Amino acid sequence: MGFDRSNGRKGMAKRDYYEVLGVPRNSGPDEVKSAYRRLARQHHPDMNKDNTKGAEEKFKELSEAYEVLVDPAKRARYDQLGFTGVQQDFGPGGFSWQNFTHAQDLEDLLGSTDFFQNLFGGGLPEGLFGRPVGRRSGIPTRGSDVEVSVRLPVSAAVTGAEPTLEVPATLRCPDCKGTGALRGTALEKCPECDGRGQVRRSQSRGFSQLITILECPMCHGSGQRIREPCPNCDATGIIRRVKKLKVEVPPGIEDGAVLRLAHQGVPADGSGPPGDLFVQVLLEPLPSIHREGQDAYTETHVGLSLAIFGGQTRVNTITGQAILTVPAGTQPETRFRLRREGFPRLRSTERGDLIVTVHVDLPESLNPHQRELLREALGAPEAKEAASRRSGLFSRRS
Ligand SMILES: [Zn+2]
Ligand SMILES: [Zn+2]
Repeated sequence: MGFDRSNGRKGMAKRDYYEVLGVPRNSGPDEVKSAYRRLARQHHPDMNKDNTKGAEEKFKELSEAYEVLVDPAKRARYDQLGFTGVQQDFGPGGFSWQNFTHAQDLEDLLGSTDFFQNLFGGGLPEGLFGRPVGRRSGIPTRGSDVEVSVRLPVSAAVTGAEPTLEVPATLRCPDCKGTGALRGTALEKCPECDGRGQVRRSQSRGFSQLITILECPMCHGSGQRIREPCPNCDATGIIRRVKKLKVEVPPGIEDGAVLRLAHQGVPADGSGPPGDLFVQVLLEPLPSIHREGQDAYTETHVGLSLAIFGGQTRVNTITGQAILTVPAGTQPETRFRLRREGFPRLRSTERGDLIVTVHVDLPESLNPHQRELLREALGAPEAKEAASRRSGLFSRRS
């Protein structure tokens, strides 16, 4: 057997694939895969900020070796004939990203598509790892997230609430079972992508050719074409509905807070989990209540006699009304604190206070009889001016 491992490309030393991945010649596919996983992480350009170009080159070298050693047919030819054995796979220019057929393995290998996204500066179009490709390759993909908002009275911050929301929902069409084809009619192979569901586009990126695998625009990744469309779903395979969903809003919720309801979003096309539902809670402010942190502020007006003699008055709270006891001799603009009538803290028994500012309304006019009685009780203003100022009764605090 001839082991010609000479490089097809002149002037560049080409390393043996087993050497590149650091695996023995008799290694199994799992060993090849785990070596590639480890080295691909190590040479992530994000981890090699000082030499991203070098890291990209290294990653390409690793990927070429992986492309050959993970494929039994290519590997057998390489074992027998060296680089010459795989020349036919890569063409005269040698390996380029166009030849890399394991892009989908990267998602599996690296746990996320971020790796590839970052490697190519985020310039990767959706679809390379998106749903249509994933659907065909069997990688479970999540359904989409749904965002809705709900308006609630501010009292929901105290009591909590259980509003019933109408959220958009999509169902697989029961008539065609999601295929989009008229019941009983067969699908045919998409001529655009020859049933693969993907089309390849190449693009120059610096020193290398970047291959991007896109969802086939004709069949949207299914690889199949509908001969006769399903009228129930307009050949989309999907029916849009509105579903009613009861949402639990806990006490202590803040205005603008977003609740996440896992798996209540759009169902996945394949075996993946549904997306999530995000509910933004908007609290309708009360004109009489002002919020500062956990404390609430309100105001009330009392008459002169209540301020002088004391008594009880109703004040607005977040959830309704409460009784405030005003002591005798209460001065205008006095603030009272109603303990634990403010806003609760989320997932806590703590609760703020309601702070009530009491305005004292003086009578605007008196009849002669009232005037005489008051003058008798309180004295003439000329004589008692100093005393009345001390008591504060007729001098508003500035
Ligand atoms: Zn249908
Ligand atoms: Zn197609």
